[in-house]
Amino acid sequence: MSKPDISPPPLRNDCFALPAGVNWTPVDDALALLRDRLTVVTGVESAPLMQAAGRILAEDVQAKRSNPPQPNTAVDGYGFAGPVADGPCVLPLVEGRAAAGVPFGGKVPSGHAVRVLTGAALPEGVDTVILEEDVTLDQGHIAFRGPLKKGANARKAGEDVVEGALALPAGRRLTPADLALLSAIGLAEVSVYKVLRVGVLSTGDELVEPGDIAAPGQIYDANRPMLLSLVERMGFEPVDLGSAEDSREALEHRLNHAARQVDVILTSGGASAGDEDHVSALLQEAGAMQEWRIALKPGRPLALGMWDQTPVFGLPGNPVAAMVCTLVFARPALTLMAGAGWQEPQGFDVPAAFEKRKKPGRREYLRARIREGRAEVFHSEGSGRISGLSWAEGLVEIEDGARDIQPGDPVRFIPYGSFGL
Ligand code: AMP
Ligand code: MG
Repeated sequence: MSKPDISPPPLRNDCFALPAGVNWTPVDDALALLRDRLTVVTGVESAPLMQAAGRILAEDVQAKRSNPPQPNTAVDGYGFAGPVADGPCVLPLVEGRAAAGVPFGGKVPSGHAVRVLTGAALPEGVDTVILEEDVTLDQGHIAFRGPLKKGANARKAGEDVVEGALALPAGRRLTPADLALLSAIGLAEVSVYKVLRVGVLSTGDELVEPGDIAAPGQIYDANRPMLLSLVERMGFEPVDLGSAEDSREALEHRLNHAARQVDVILTSGGASAGDEDHVSALLQEAGAMQEWRIALKPGRPLALGMWDQTPVFGLPGNPVAAMVCTLVFARPALTLMAGAGWQEPQGFDVPAAFEKRKKPGRREYLRARIREGRAEVFHSEGSGRISGLSWAEGLVEIEDGARDIQPGDPVRFIPYGSFGL
C-alpha cells in the first residue's frame, strides 16, 4: 500500500468562470458549475483502521475474507444434519461441543447431534441447529418437535459479504459501522485522502475577538467560530486564519500566508462591490475572481476566486447568509475537493406549520425546525438574526418559482444533519 506522496494537479485559475451574459444565476446552475469545474485536491495516505473514522476512502475496498468466514450457529442449541420432518424427533448426542473460537474437532455422524454455542463454526456433518429452549435433554439424547428446515438457525459462509466482493466504494466517508465491516472482512489499514485543510478568515474593521472590549460601532466576530466549527463537523481540518482589517495590504498578507497553509480558504465579509469590499477587490486584481450573483435568499453575491492556486470562497458577512452559503455551496464543493464526491443534502417533504407567499425568481432558505411532524420557521427572515440560526435545526428550501404556502402544505425540510453537521 506504499504510494508516492503526491497531490493532484492544482485547479485552473478560470475554474469559477461563468458563461458570458449571465446575470442572476439559478442555484442549481451555480451548483452544476461548481460540480463540473472542481476536482479532488488532496493527496492519498494510508490510515490504520482504528483511526479511520470520518476519513474518505481513496480506493474501492474488496473483502479479504468472507463474513462470516465459515458457517456458524446463530443461537445456543444443538446441531445436526437437517432437515427434520413433521413430528417428534430424538437424537443421540456426541461427546464434546462447539463454541465461538473453539471448534469441535471431529465429524458428527448422521443421525447424531452436538452441543453448539452462538458463533461457533458448524462442525463437519452439521448444517442445522435447534434452539436449546425447544429441546428436552435426557440420558445423552435430545428430543424436540419437527418440522425444521435444513439450515435453520445457522449462518452460511459469506452470506453477508463474500471474499473478493466490493465492500465499500472509493469516496466513502467512513462511519463507525463501516469500521465494523472493514474489520470483519480482514482490513487493518485503508487508503484514504488526506484531510482537506480549510482556512477560515474574517474580514472587517468592525470586528473584535470574543472576550475583548468592544468599542461603540464594533461587533464580536460571530462568523469565525461558526465557520470553523462547521468545517470541523463536516469532516475537514479547520485552520483559524484570524481576522483581517479592511485594508488591501492586510488582506493580501493574510491570503499569501494562508495559501501556503491550506487547501481552500473561506472568507466572510467584504465580498460585495463596495468601497470596503477588499476581498472581491483583491481577487479581482489577481485576475482570478468571479462574482456569482446567485438567485438566492439569504445571500449576497458570492465571490469565488483563486489566490496563488488556492480556491477562495468569499462568503457574505451576514452570519445567516454566511452559514446558508456555506451549507448550500461550500459544503458540496469541499466534499468534492476532499475526495468524497458531490453530495446533495437529503431533504424531506413535511407539512408546513406556517404561511408564506413568495414571488418567482429566486430560491429561499428559511431557518426551520420540526415540531410535532410539521416544519416551523423562525419568526423573522432578517439576515442579521443570529438567534434564528441557533433556534433552527435545519432549513426549509423553497423552490425558485412562486409559491403560496398554507399551513399543512408540503415543504422541503433539510435537517442540519443532512449537511453533515
Ligand atoms: P460585509 O459583507 O463585509 O459588507 O458585511 C455585511 C454585514 O455582516 C455587516 O453588517 C457586517 O458587520 C457583518 N459581518 C461581517 N463579518 C462578520 C462577522 N465575522 N461576524 C459578525 N458579523 C459580521
Ligand atoms: Mg465588511
